[in-house]
Order: sequence, then C-alpha cells, then structure tokens
Amino acid sequence: MPDLNEAMMNNHSFWQYKYGDYSANAALPPGSHETDVLVIGAGYTGLTCAREVRKDDHTKRVMVFDANEIGFGASGRNGGFNMTLFGIEPEVTMLRWGKEKTREAQSYMQKAVQYVKDLIEAEKLDSDYQHTGMLRIAYTNKQAHRLKKTYALLSDITKPGSFEYWSGKETQKRVNCPHIKAAIFEPGTGILDPCKHVRSLKMLAEREGAEIFENTRVIGLSRQSGASVVQTDVATIRAKKLVIATNAWTHKLKTSPKVANVQAPVWTYQIVTAPLTPEQWKRINWKERMSIEDNRQLVHYMRITTCGRITMGGGSIGVEYNDRKMALWKNEKVWRALERHLKWMFPALADIDIHYKWGGCISANVDMTPEIGFIGDSNIIYATGCIGHGVSLTQLNGRLIADLVLGRETGLAKFWIVNRRAIPLPPGKMLRFAGIKFIEGVLNAVDWYEEGGSKKPRN
Ligand SMILES: Cc1cc2nc3c(=O)[nH]c(=O)nc-3n(C[C@H](O)[C@H](O)[C@H](O)COP(=O)(O)OP(=O)(O)OC[C@H]3O[C@@H](n4cnc5c(N)ncnc54)[C@H](O)[C@@H]3O)c2cc1C
Repeated sequence: MPDLNEAMMNNHSFWQYKYGDYSANAALPPGSHETDVLVIGAGYTGLTCAREVRKDDHTKRVMVFDANEIGFGASGRNGGFNMTLFGIEPEVTMLRWGKEKTREAQSYMQKAVQYVKDLIEAEKLDSDYQHTGMLRIAYTNKQAHRLKKTYALLSDITKPGSFEYWSGKETQKRVNCPHIKAAIFEPGTGILDPCKHVRSLKMLAEREGAEIFENTRVIGLSRQSGASVVQTDVATIRAKKLVIATNAWTHKLKTSPKVANVQAPVWTYQIVTAPLTPEQWKRINWKERMSIEDNRQLVHYMRITTCGRITMGGGSIGVEYNDRKMALWKNEKVWRALERHLKWMFPALADIDIHYKWGGCISANVDMTPEIGFIGDSNIIYATGCIGHGVSLTQLNGRLIADLVLGRETGLAKFWIVNRRAIPLPPGKMLRFAGIKFIEGVLNAVDWYEEGGSKKPRN
C-alpha cells in the first residue's frame, strides 16, 4: 500500500490509493506514427470506444493516449454510482428539450446502467460491483414537495417499477438518518470501485488489440490532407479518425474555438471515513448498502465501500478563475463541510475519523446536457458535458462513438445528443468564471430557501 499522506499530496483519489501498486504502460516512443483511429483520453469514454471499435473491426489500428496514468481522470476518482440521472435534473432537460427527448434520455441512461452491469458480469470484472439501488432523499418539506414532482415526472417517462416513493418513516427503516422527510428509491442502479473498473476497461481494450500509451500528452492537433495530425512532446501521429475523450480537460486541447468553449471544468470533492465498527453500523442501520444522493441543488452523494467505510462528496463545488491550470483539487473548506454534513446526517458517527480526502473534475456545459459532437466533418468526434453523472453515460457513449467511428447508423448513433445544438460558454476567463459563479449562486439560493427551516449546517 502506498503512503497515505503522500498519495493525498500527489492528488490521488482514495480508489487509486486503495488500488495499490499499478504499472502504467510505456509512453508513446518518439517518431512518426500512423493509425486508423486515435483516442485521446483513457477514461470510461475512451477505453470503451477503443474496445468496441476493435471488437467490431479487428482490421482497424486503434491507439489510445492518456496524459497521465489510467485512473487519474474522473473515471478513477468518482463516487462509483452506476446511475440513471441524465444531465443535472429531469426537469431541466424537460424545460430545454421537451418531454419526448427527456424520455429518450432516461431510456438511454437505463440502458447505460444495464450495459455496465452486463459487461462486468459477462467479463467477471474485478470492479467490486453491487446492484444496490439508490435513494434520493429530502431533508425538508420543501425538498420533499419538489421530490414528489420529480417522482411523478420520472414515473411518467419510465417503465412501471423503475422508481418508488417512500415516506420519511419508511426510508428511516433502511437508513437511520433522522433528517429524512421522504425519498425516491430506484432499484435499478449500482455502485462500483471506479479505479478498479477503469483499469479493468484498459485490460479489456488491450485484449481486443487496442494499443494504449500512458503518460502521453497531446499538445497539438491539426488537419492535413483529410487526416488529423496529432502532436505529443516527442511524436507526430496521423489518424484517419480522431476521438477526443478528454472530458473536463477538453478546453485545454488546441482544437477549434467551438470545442474550446463547449464545456468548463467544475471541481467536486470527496471524503472517506475510517472503517465503521459493527456497533456504528448497527446504530446507523444502513443495511442494504443502497447509495444515497440528497435532493439539494448542490447535491451530496454518499455510499458504502467494500472495505466498510462511508464516502461522501458534493455539497459545494470548486470553480477556478484560470481554468487552464486545472489545479483546484484540494479544498479544505469543502472537505470540512462534508465532514460536518456527514456527522449531521448520522449523529451516531459524531466521533468518526476522516481517513482520506480528494477532489476531481467534471465537465459542465451551459445547458447542463451531455453532448457528442463533430469538428468539421465526422472524422473528429468529441464528447463533453457529463455533469458529474457519467459512470454509466460515458461507457454507453463510448459504444455509441464506436458506431460513429465505424460509420454505422445504429439506433444508438441516432440518440439526440449527437451533433445537437450546443450553447457556447462566454469567451474569456472573467465572463466564464462569473457565469459559473452565478449559476452556483442560484443553486445555493434554492438550497438556502428550501432548507431555511432546518438546522442543517450550511456549507
Ligand atoms: C469526484 C467525482 C465524483 C463523481 N461521481 C460520479 C458518480 O458517482 N456517478 C456518476 O455517474 N458520475 C460521477 N462522476 C462523473 C464521472 O466520473 C465522469 O463523468 C466520467 O468518469 C468521465 O469519463 P471520461 O472517460 O469521459 O473522462 P475522464 O475519466 O475524465 O478521462 C479523461 C482523460 O483524458 C486525459 N487527458 C486530458 N487531457 C489530455 C491530453 N492533452 N492528452 C492526453 N490525455 C489527456 C486525462 O488524463 C483523463 O484520464 C464523478 C466525477 C468526479 C470528479
């Protein structure tokens, strides 16, 4: 096991730390290279796409580059919720895109969760997967009122049985948090260890013959005679098809002004407790291991790990004035607020120690809707806007992008987020920063209004 403090100081997630020793693949050697398909970014999106392209067409050479070790991106540091939430909220999707597209999006997400579960089961992946179900809980009557409306909308657009509405009392039988007023339970969801999973995806992609190079950063990109020409520090690669799967880093790639302004990085933070004693588990009575999100705008997410701890994230976000730095992964203030919130939720854990803390970056766009787009013709494909709900989404997106790479007009490739109308972020650091801070302020104001009557500690 690596040294705990050193791992935290080196910006490793708990999952990376817990994984232990990992041998990264060698970086791409200097020189000129040619490939049919080049994928930039080896998270869930990139690795799934590479695997699926090779699986469908073994004649294609597929190369994958990641600037870091696999597991460094959001795919190795998330909460591990294999969940069906699309974008930020179904109501927001409905407002912007209408009911039919919201229904299609929800169906895509249910398919995505199943896709991940099926893959893990079929390949017997060591991803610590459990199909636990998920609760969305309300702490106040106002939140419960809004939750009921969300439940009505979700029930209207999904198959019967996809969601259940529980009273506070009923929910408290499953988890002993005295503040719960009501909950939605969604049985068809699960949890996994994100770092183990993304590294399992690496193994599967390599098994299919994809060539993966870690610590290989793309620093330049251009078009020459119909091909993409990609530059690393030491090499030049000509690719017939290019997939940009760099998620929250996409604005940093020198692509086109369109893609530079399509998304912005937003930081989210997590803590994990020391293992709970049998007595503590008994007192909080969180028996069935279902994952939990609250019904706040700046949502908290929490779950149990296989090593008997609780991990919690969210509650506040981080926004960097100079978003090219990508350096806001430490946030003592948010970590402290998470600890307070955990102890407020579970008074029986008042003296539990926090074992590990980390942060990570999600890709957010103006209309809070995932996007798969093209630069120029269909030979350069990018995916952005996971909005922090991308464990299942980005893996099915990887499958979808494989269809686009292979020029297949499948049902998946017709999903409406492909080549959709996207709203660009305001140009320039100042406007961008002010814009995201404004949205954060609005979300905070809604939480303040809905929680005005509760004794919940403010973040
Ligand atoms: C703390 C946290 C908690 C989250 N919790 C959940 C959750 O519980 N459930 C859920 O559904 N979603 C969650 N998410 C979101 C989810 O993790 C992401 O949507 C998903 O992992 C994105 O996968 P990806 O492959 O698109 O991107 P990433 O996993 O971010 O991969 C992008 C990769 O691109 C690489 N890269 C960047 N620039 C370059 C370059 N120039 N050259 C080469 N490589 C480059 C990076 O190193 C990185 O590995 C969370 C995210 C975070 C940060």
